[in-house]
Amino acid sequence: MKNKMQEQRESLPIFPFKQDLIAAIREYQILVVVGDTGSGKTTQLPQYILEGIPNAIVAVTQPRRIAAISAAYRVAEETGTKIGDLVGYSIRFEKVASKNTKLQFLTDGTLLRTCTTDPLISQFNCIMLDESHERSLDTDVLFGLLKRACKQRPELKVIIMSATLDIEKFQDFFDAPVFSVPGRMFEVDVLWQKTIKFQTLKTTFVQRCVETVMHIHKTEEPGDVLVFLTGQQEIERCAKNILDLHKELNYNLVRHRDSVKDMVVYPIYSSLETLQQKAIFEKTPKGVRKIVLATNIAQTSVTVPGIRYVVDCGFVKQKMYDHKTHMDALLVVPISQAAATQRAGRAGRTENGKVYRLYCKEAFQEMSPTTVPEIQRSSLLGTILYLLKIGIKDVLNFDFIDAPDPELVQTGLKQLFYLGAVDKENRLTHLGKIMSDFPVSPFLSRCLISSSQDFQCSDEMCTIVALLSVEDFYIQPRSEKDQALAEEKRQEFYDSSGDHVTFLNIYNAWRDSGYSQDWCRDNFFHYRALNVAKNIRSQLLSAMKQHKLEIYSLTHKQKIPPSCRQPILKSLCSGFYMNTVKKQKGKTVFYPYIASLEGQSTLLFLSPQSSLTKIDQDRLDWVIFNDVQFVTRPNMRITSRIDFEMVKVLFGRVDIKHHKMEEEFQTIREVIDPMHNEEHGLRNEVHSNQVERPVDLVELKRKSARERFLERKKQK
Ligand code: ADP
Ligand code: MG
Repeated sequence: MKNKMQEQRESLPIFPFKQDLIAAIREYQILVVVGDTGSGKTTQLPQYILEGIPNAIVAVTQPRRIAAISAAYRVAEETGTKIGDLVGYSIRFEKVASKNTKLQFLTDGTLLRTCTTDPLISQFNCIMLDESHERSLDTDVLFGLLKRACKQRPELKVIIMSATLDIEKFQDFFDAPVFSVPGRMFEVDVLWQKTIKFQTLKTTFVQRCVETVMHIHKTEEPGDVLVFLTGQQEIERCAKNILDLHKELNYNLVRHRDSVKDMVVYPIYSSLETLQQKAIFEKTPKGVRKIVLATNIAQTSVTVPGIRYVVDCGFVKQKMYDHKTHMDALLVVPISQAAATQRAGRAGRTENGKVYRLYCKEAFQEMSPTTVPEIQRSSLLGTILYLLKIGIKDVLNFDFIDAPDPELVQTGLKQLFYLGAVDKENRLTHLGKIMSDFPVSPFLSRCLISSSQDFQCSDEMCTIVALLSVEDFYIQPRSEKDQALAEEKRQEFYDSSGDHVTFLNIYNAWRDSGYSQDWCRDNFFHYRALNVAKNIRSQLLSAMKQHKLEIYSLTHKQKIPPSCRQPILKSLCSGFYMNTVKKQKGKTVFYPYIASLEGQSTLLFLSPQSSLTKIDQDRLDWVIFNDVQFVTRPNMRITSRIDFEMVKVLFGRVDIKHHKMEEEFQTIREVIDPMHNEEHGLRNEVHSNQVERPVDLVELKRKSARERFLERKKQK
């Protein structure tokens, strides 16, 4: 007798094509597989390959960590094996696999890292790039690398998997055939708002989602609801409001009260806890309506069965390059038409469904047809450093499926130069090589190196960098009472220099509690996030040792004494001095220093969560920040107070040629020399080119690439 799971597998749309798929994979080196979300691409196709292709060692990439883990668990369960045995996963800072592992789910970033030591990816003979339609930055780089690897390894199999039919690009780029798995789509009714535009919707969509869910619950037939929201905070807020309203709901007013008697609410966002809840994927008892509140992850990566109603808020949180700060910022932006169609499609998988779009038809027509690939809207710092490291010197002419904007490449190179990672001819420096070996951003690896080489606080810096590498570890309690309590508890860890040292105090207090889970609960911190940070910290320490970077500790005290702040802040400045801002006297706005040198007037604000909001604002002058997040305005996240003296010398590296403040910098140039330390290989390299500007890429090449870019843009 077949078990339930076997039956479930055989009922998936991809199942009838199993043999044809295996035959196609045997025949072609590269194959594009396209099929609707939920048809079985991620969980089934890798298993077919293990069954049908002898000696296959398979890698499947995912743009999101959480999707990689969840797929691995699911496939391990389907194959009746323990995770880490036949089926494993590997994400940054975490690998669960063994010598028996034949199928690994990895993030695209993790597979890229493998290529630094193994450019032909020889540990696998079948590589599946999943969610290709998402066009994440790392997937785009992998496209180019895999195309190259295929030429040199005839036995290598590459499968490009996509959920959208818009695949001509992949077909052209790889010159590969397409295998299309027909979906089983039912009809989906589209309900529009009459007039509302995105401007109004942007500040009200959470409340509108709440109202729409209640409306569906009161008036629609049984069937589960999937709500697309933008992030964890919006989801938590929406969940709370729905549950509050539900408590007061009089079921006499519910139209289908005979068959709709209760509801359950589940959140899905980028934390493992939510996806490991089996209940999300299981049928609810009769009469109970399941309401799933999800981020974009439910658009194509994760399929929740049984959805009949979709509520689409029309927005997504997206990484966008900010030309003013030269940094990535997370922005809430309208989705594309393609994304809207995908979201609607979630309602028609098992029977006819409905999508409630919270925007009007005209707003839909104003959406861009497809989402702009990440490579054309992100800071390319990490990617450039990566390509240089694997020996691709001419970044602009790398075989990209869509070339990045040459301006972005140029800015990336300039910033790498500021960090000392490339020299004035855009060649990787010794320092740059070490930086690229750390699995963190170039800004952070620069801080780590400096904390050992220059400021003898590397132990502390490993903690800070680890904490900067995890998702938010502050719990935001729902009730006001708990919020006040959390505030009071956290007071104890607060350092008046700002968030970075405060983070360190928190971690040390947790360490001294014996890494206790109860301590986290009592003080309102996410235990899992801190645990991940602990793991990252130990990996950073061993990476430091590997590069013979000494580990120094400033203090063993739990709370960092004021005398220890300086070296920590100075190390942070060496990586983040480009994020120096100055506060305007008497106001609560900040000006980025570099942008103002360049004659731009960008305004930034302190994030409401920043510990610097707690001090007398008149005492603030110079501040550095970690990154920018747009909510209703650009907020600096994770900030600390510094003295201008700490960054002054570093600005010597910044291009000042065309600027009126040149004279001021002349004096700075003179201070650089005394800092010169001949014995220090690393430092030498950084400082020796400090005042020169990176040479432009060969101007001609740049132009032609720019022209090509514009041409392509025009064609679109
Ligand atoms: P695709 O990659 O084509 O979108 P998947 O292979 O992810 O499809 O999913 C196939 C089916 O398996 C879906 O119907 C989904 O509901 C189910 N499924 C996937 N992951 C899980 C999981 N972790 N738990 C339960 N069911 C799952
Ligand atoms: Mg999938």
